[in-house]
Amino acid sequence: MRTRQREAIEAVLREAGRPLTRDEILSFGRAKVSRLGPATVDRTIRELAANFQLVGVEFPGQPRRYELPSENEHPHFICRSCDYVFDLPVAMRLPKIRPPEGFEVTGGEVIYSGTCPDCASGAG
Ligand SMILES: [Zn+2]
Repeated sequence: MRTRQREAIEAVLREAGRPLTRDEILSFGRAKVSRLGPATVDRTIRELAANFQLVGVEFPGQPRRYELPSENEHPHFICRSCDYVFDLPVAMRLPKIRPPEGFEVTGGEVIYSGTCPDCASGAG
């Protein structure tokens, strides 16, 4: 069922253009639907992910983030100063690998790190 809350959450992710944590989705979503609650955000994330309308992005030592599915594989960038994660609009294809016996590979990530423009200019 399409609800206002769900539409708001999808809009938040679309407008952000970068992977968001659940807390970021909640706080940006509240700017659109003030009564949006954490339980609704969690439930919506679960439903969207189950339908492959949302992709989880995980980096070591970081909270899980979510983004809308992309038609193009792209690397991510994490700012070591503000911890924001960005999509890098760069065409990139992960190299095919032959995993060791018994491993089933269902995904891969390329992650660059450094400083985002805001932090580099001292505004962050
Ligand atoms: Zn930054």
